[in-house]
Amino acid sequence: MTHRRLAPGRLVLASHNAGKLREFAALLAPHGLELVSAKALGLPEPAETGSTFLENARIKALAATRATGLPALADDSGCEVAALGGAPGVHTADWATQPDGSRDYRPAMARIAREAGANPDRRCAFVATLVLAWPDGHCEGFEGRTEGHWVYPPRGENGFGFDPIFVPEGESLTFGEMTPEQKARLSHRARAFAALAAACLPG
Ligand code: IMP
Repeated sequence: MTHRRLAPGRLVLASHNAGKLREFAALLAPHGLELVSAKALGLPEPAETGSTFLENARIKALAATRATGLPALADDSGCEVAALGGAPGVHTADWATQPDGSRDYRPAMARIAREAGANPDRRCAFVATLVLAWPDGHCEGFEGRTEGHWVYPPRGENGFGFDPIFVPEGESLTFGEMTPEQKARLSHRARAFAALAAACLPG
């Protein structure tokens, strides 16, 4: 398959999530691209009406590229808990959303432990789908996945979201206990990004 390569310059991150922004800034640093976030540009967050990570990432990337005239990168991600049939999946962010619209991950992590707790199957995977979109509507999509298991109570203050309850396969620390560099060697986001970088990034 022929991929389209991005020219050096500015790239919008179609996300208001500070954790994703930090991780993408580190991943993009070697590629000569200037990352500007949708939040810094005051872009609205589009409704995530898709039923897959790919559809939602496309919605976010296309909204940001259309609003700015710049290429845009979106990440739609979440965790799939085996004992819950793959939930929360695309609804992961919703599980943390409070009535006032803010996000609180403590009750969301507790809900996973409560709903899956009696089941001895602790498998869990983190998934990230990245879409790079250009102002003419061209899109490229890449998925990354990290298998592992969930633990409760949460451990560690690093990372963001559900990191304190996720232990990647073969490891003993949660993402919340790892340094950003350790997480980046194993994460779903870094794996999706590596595929995107090989196909579409300059240099
Ligand atoms: P969305 O992609 O904005 O729809 O939301 C992704 C959801 O998955 C958020 O609730 C994130 O906190 C969670 N999530 C995605 N990636 C990670 C990660 O690397 N660590 C922990 N939680 C994550």
